[in-house]
Amino acid sequence: MEKAHDKVWNNCLAIIKDIVEWQHFKTWFEPIRPVGIKEHVLTIQVPSQFFFEYLEEHYVNLLAKTLKRELGKEARLEYRIMVDSGNDKNKPVTMDVSGHGYKTYSNNEMDFPLVINNPVKNPFVIPGLKKMQIDAQLNPVHTFDSFVEGDCNRVSRRAGKTVAEKPGATSFNPLVLYGGVGLGKTHLAQAVGNEVKRLHPNKVVLYVSSEKFINQFQDHSRNNAINDFIHFYQLIDVLIIDDVQFFNRAEKSQDALFAIFNHLHQSGKQLILTSDKPPKDLEGVQERLLSRFRWGLSADLQVPDYETRIDILEKKMRNDGLEMPREVVKYIAYNIQSNVRELEGALISLLAQSSLNKREIDLDLAKKVLRNFVKTSSKEITIDTIQKMVCDFFDVPYDKLLQKTRKREIVQARQITMYLAKIFTKNSLKTIGEHFGGRDHTTVIHSCQTVKDLMDTDNLFRESVMELQQKVQLAAM
Ligand code: ADP
Ligand code: MG
Repeated sequence: MEKAHDKVWNNCLAIIKDIVEWQHFKTWFEPIRPVGIKEHVLTIQVPSQFFFEYLEEHYVNLLAKTLKRELGKEARLEYRIMVDSGNDKNKPVTMDVSGHGYKTYSNNEMDFPLVINNPVKNPFVIPGLKKMQIDAQLNPVHTFDSFVEGDCNRVSRRAGKTVAEKPGATSFNPLVLYGGVGLGKTHLAQAVGNEVKRLHPNKVVLYVSSEKFINQFQDHSRNNAINDFIHFYQLIDVLIIDDVQFFNRAEKSQDALFAIFNHLHQSGKQLILTSDKPPKDLEGVQERLLSRFRWGLSADLQVPDYETRIDILEKKMRNDGLEMPREVVKYIAYNIQSNVRELEGALISLLAQSSLNKREIDLDLAKKVLRNFVKTSSKEITIDTIQKMVCDFFDVPYDKLLQKTRKREIVQARQITMYLAKIFTKNSLKTIGEHFGGRDHTTVIHSCQTVKDLMDTDNLFRESVMELQQKVQLAAM
């Protein structure tokens, strides 16, 4: 008889299968085994820590939504992570953690010592293989091919390609990729790693987050095994360290990094680092390290522009075999401007919503879903600013906007301005009216309604309003 946890999980899978691309489904969902259920908590077993992190980073929304459908609002997911699959002498070792979304997961669990030939498992060494068979810890999805090029990343992407072709043999050593969250640092750094492995199968590549590096270092230092730690890292041909800003104030770990950096650099090995700011602005990192970070090339990743955002969305959809109306793609690209991660998040939410509610993706659904994504502005924007932006946009003289002209273009520009003022400022309808030559609040209400109606019926009009909306939003960031 089918067990309760199998049943629940199979129902979840049936939904997930429809949403996730086949290849991803095979990679990330098929290996999962449901192992238990207790009231609202389903426990699933996953093959590794990396697996767990990947699921939590990429599929947490989807998992949560499907599980809630099965087990109700209280539903929760717990993971059993295979630390060591065991053999005839040793039992398998597993570790239980609850799922929260990867970001909130604390990285404090003992990381397993990383000593070669030590009876304790090295997490990077594939069991049963020779010592140089170090698992690169790369996500195979992060390739150059899936990394869309735009003005925002052209230099970094090219530099990454150059490094991948000739690791350690260019002046881009280290290659430091920096930029804000969700702009593709991890993706690009891993793309270099994957490309090196493709072009130079004998090179030993290793990707490690700074947090993991620091945790491992601290474990080794507690076990008096710092030399093992440093020697291990000195075996690597292409070392990728992600988010080096987390080294701030980890003094001892910085010493280890310094030793490893020098050894690798002198031996013509490649270093790739990522950081949330340019090396010169990193705080709490020793000057001698910073000066080495500056030896090579520092290249930044910027916020993608509208066109690139569309390209990225279309690429994701192509890769996942998805389709949605062009106007929805444009709507997402207009409205999600902060970074690529949010862009993806919006896309996935939309897909999940459409699938869960058995509803076609259309502009209406997109608006509903994106309401949760569009952030409230951080800077206070004034009615005056919006008025000037609209005047510029439609080439309407400022004083005309305030007068009682009945010319259609002016009336429309005025209505749009009121509408934007209502969305983007905290002013009352009365105050907004006063800024337009003393009109009363009912005029403002009427204007906002007219704009909404026109946006629903007139495509050109909607495009203009959305473009303006984007400009105002940018000004408010
Ligand atoms: P960071 O490390 O800078 O915070 P990530 O590399 O994790 O950002 O990127 C966030 C998400 O956006 C990832 O899923 C990544 O694949 C995707 N992404 C970022 N930049 C691009 C790009 N140029 N083309 C395609 N996908 C991108
Ligand atoms: Mg990252």
